[in-house]
Amino acid sequence: MDLTRPTLSRIGLFGGAFDPPHSGHLALAESAIEQLELDALFVLPTGQAWHKTRSLTEAAHRLAMTERNFASCPKVKVDDREIRRAGPTYTIDTLNEFKSTYPDAEFFILMGADQAEQFPTWKRWQDIAANATLAVAQRQASDANPAWGDGWHNRHEVKTLLLNMPLKRVSATDIRSRISRGTMPTEDLTPSVSQYIQQHHLYLESHD
Ligand code: ATP
Repeated sequence: MDLTRPTLSRIGLFGGAFDPPHSGHLALAESAIEQLELDALFVLPTGQAWHKTRSLTEAAHRLAMTERNFASCPKVKVDDREIRRAGPTYTIDTLNEFKSTYPDAEFFILMGADQAEQFPTWKRWQDIAANATLAVAQRQASDANPAWGDGWHNRHEVKTLLLNMPLKRVSATDIRSRISRGTMPTEDLTPSVSQYIQQHHLYLESHD
């Protein structure tokens, strides 16, 4: 796939700490590519996310693990622009950069329901909503009945859709905690990611 030509018409953007990336992220990406008929999905490990208080694992490690996690998806391109950006990273800046590269594309921003609940706290969320559709994945059974938008003001301004995907209860927090207690949760990690974690001795101490 040639990602440099501005001919992509349906583009997904999926940001996250990916500390580490896991099977929930992969399931979300695969569901979105299929259901939204995406031409490309850009996966963007965050630099210094404004909404995360915990200090993240070194960006180079998160980037390397993210490449490994999505290696089975030919439409995924892992993009390091948020890591390279100085200061806090905001989705609106990333979306605007992609819009100038692909001016005619339709954009979908992928996220779990926990992030969707927080959406009206994002910087310039109205501008994001005016230029993209939010594609939301359930994180618990109750998210199927989308309560995550109930707290939103001006809900009608935001185009959203709920992805149809099996519920994956895995979280990076839980994975980090299990590794620090001596268990590698191989069922929730792709083999190359768990190998990477072992090789680099990541998550051996709990910081949560
Ligand atoms: P942490 O536990 O450290 O907060 P996380 O597992 O939520 O991490 P992030 O990297 O923060 O992972 O998530 C990136 C995006 O993927 C977010 O929008 C999040 O809601 C979504 N996501 C994470 N895990 C799942 C999952 N199991 N099912 C659906 N979406 C998920």
